[in-house]
Amino acid sequence: MILKNKTAVITGGSRGIGRAIALDMASSGADIAVIFAGRQDAAQEVIDIAKNYGVKACCYKCDVSDFNQTKALTETIIKDFSGIDILVNNAGITADKLIMTMKEEDFDSVVNTNLKGAFNMIKHCYMNFLKKRSGSIINITSVSGIMGNAGQANYASAKAGIIGLTKTVAKELAPRNITCNAIAPGFIDTDMTRQMPQSIKEQAVNAIPLKKMGSPKDISALAVYLASDSARYITGEVIKVDGGLCI
Ligand code: NDP
Repeated sequence: MILKNKTAVITGGSRGIGRAIALDMASSGADIAVIFAGRQDAAQEVIDIAKNYGVKACCYKCDVSDFNQTKALTETIIKDFSGIDILVNNAGITADKLIMTMKEEDFDSVVNTNLKGAFNMIKHCYMNFLKKRSGSIINITSVSGIMGNAGQANYASAKAGIIGLTKTVAKELAPRNITCNAIAPGFIDTDMTRQMPQSIKEQAVNAIPLKKMGSPKDISALAVYLASDSARYITGEVIKVDGGLCI
């Protein structure tokens, strides 16, 4: 129960990696607030499972790319849970295309959800963390933000931006004992990657030294550790969980 008496907010906690983080944090004793965009059924399922661990769990619909929606959301959560100890910025989308065919809205929607969404949440939780004088922020980036990836100019830009955001927040909030780290997953088996054509998936797995996709649990185990007191001296780091893809 290493997260007992802590409240964790997980954006995109309804599915995939976010769901695994929400459930792992709940089973480690944290109360959880799960943010979803549209899939209330999936979010409610996470809440129902989490309650079996004896923690408080609620879900909230919010588009993280919307500045005003995230302001109202964080105010509500801070009231409902009496503060936030752990913020996980995980919500993300892709709209892969070569730049030649990438539309302006493909670029804007991906950057606004992945990067501005994380900024919005951090911005509106900032005072909460300053007052608490403790806490951890975990941003989910991607190996695409480190290496670049053909067909992902929008996504790789957003994920590289998250790395800059992470290091900046780490420096700004370190004097108040708040850590901020990023996890860079490689190729993880979720709805996001299930929509890829089989041939592309096979090619991607072949490029991974461990020769297999990761599972959401591979990411959530690290997120729980980074949120725990055992990781209190780690900040500003970008930790890859990618089966060796980036070696
Ligand atoms: P999924 O597509 O499985 O889940 C995406 C989650 O984000 C859902 O919970 C969805 O909510 C939520 N979401 C999407 N848009 C918004 C929005 N505008 N506002 C609030 N919530 C939103 O994705 P993954 O679990 O695969 O990915 C999670 C994170 O990990 C993303 O940031 C992704 O970029 C990153 N990542 C994933 C990798 C992978 O291989 N899967 C690799 C590297 C990084 P709803 O259920 O309501 O639609």
